[in-house]
Amino acid sequence: MSKISDFIGVSARKNVEEAIAKAHAHESFHALLSLTETRALERADAVDRGEITGSLAGVPFIAKDNFLTLGGTTTAASKILENFEAPLQATAIEKLEAEGAICIGKANLDAFAHGGSTENSAFGPTKNAVDQERVAGGSSGGSAVVVALGIVPFALGTDTGGSIRQPASFNGVVGMKPTYGTVSRYGVVAMASSTDTIGVLASNTDDAALVMGVMSGKDTKDMTTLPDFFTPTILEGKKKIGLIKEAMTDDVDPEVRRVTNEYIEKLRSAGHEVEEVSLSLLKYALAIYYIVVPAEISSNLGRYDGIRYGRRADASRLSELYGSSRDEGFMTENKRRIMIGSYVLSSGFFDAYYLQAQKVRTLLINEFNELFQSFDVLVAPVAPTPAFKLGENTNDPIKMYLADVMTVPASLAGLPAISVPAGKNEQGLPIGVQLIGKRRDDALLLALAKTIEENA
Ligand code: GLN
Repeated sequence: MSKISDFIGVSARKNVEEAIAKAHAHESFHALLSLTETRALERADAVDRGEITGSLAGVPFIAKDNFLTLGGTTTAASKILENFEAPLQATAIEKLEAEGAICIGKANLDAFAHGGSTENSAFGPTKNAVDQERVAGGSSGGSAVVVALGIVPFALGTDTGGSIRQPASFNGVVGMKPTYGTVSRYGVVAMASSTDTIGVLASNTDDAALVMGVMSGKDTKDMTTLPDFFTPTILEGKKKIGLIKEAMTDDVDPEVRRVTNEYIEKLRSAGHEVEEVSLSLLKYALAIYYIVVPAEISSNLGRYDGIRYGRRADASRLSELYGSSRDEGFMTENKRRIMIGSYVLSSGFFDAYYLQAQKVRTLLINEFNELFQSFDVLVAPVAPTPAFKLGENTNDPIKMYLADVMTVPASLAGLPAISVPAGKNEQGLPIGVQLIGKRRDDALLLALAKTIEENA
């Protein structure tokens, strides 16, 4: 893996050319959907001429293909947007470019970020960086793999229910999902607007902090953004940390529990206090998530009608045009979520499902708030298992959803959470541990992880 500092103060053209060569050398992983070589080289030359400067001048990166970018397509890994060329760039991309960073390509994902393995991509799955027979995780699977393979020092992802943290864990990289509202969602293909967050995957916590610092801040184009609070920091004092006991039951892979316990021992050796705590509503988190999120998806995907964006089906009547464009353009998982979402929002079922889920969501938020009265940080595994085999869960959506149980709670509560590499199982598959913080304690999480980071 590479570090941002390796790319600073050297030839930007060389940085970009080498990253593109590495991308080609690793094509068998299918981590990338496209390269934006022409635009990247133009920007690199401008950096080398001194026309573009900044804290990330000449540093190449890759964005998940649901960020609108110039110089190529933005597909969200879907057929409906297969040839879509964005007229503008996401605020996050604009901010990175303003500091001189160079986007060299777009990473694979589950179509519209619906999934946890990158197997729902319309263009085929991404393979795990450590074992090509296993999934990359998802939905930001491509972003995790390009960092793990050392193609670029950092990549952008989105996390709605775990899509940065889980692939980070599966590939052995750092993944940061910030407090809801930290980074503008403007120009990023919407999944579920109340939990969508923009974050970063990197090889180490310092680089993650640097990139988050650049991307964060108020944006008038996204009214949910918070005034800039993210400043990379150094850990001061000892912390009180709660281990979520419901995330360490016998259902969880023993190797995942072992690695989590070893991480906790490291926290203790560094002088922090770790105690078991109960997040009793964890057992309802998936039920809440898989009602609220499809509801928002069904609304957000309404705009893809074959007229305003992307692919248009051959049809002789308007209703057929809508129906066929959506039928051809969406994947099975997208359709499943649109149908679940429409169902839970329909007049007969709204109170029983959607409203009820939102009420239990509030109880979950309250339970987190209570825990944070006595604890600074919570710790839990990222996922119940290491990376599973390609195809293992594809015919069983419920099994796939169950893998999200540990990441969705922080998403529903809008809390910052990071996934840090913590160890490996016997087969050498990476296993990450998750740190969850209070709202706006994003930088603290990274600083805490840094104190026990290997090679820090
Ligand atoms: N795996 C989760 C899902 O399928 C999370 C996806 C995400 O965060 N984009 O919804």
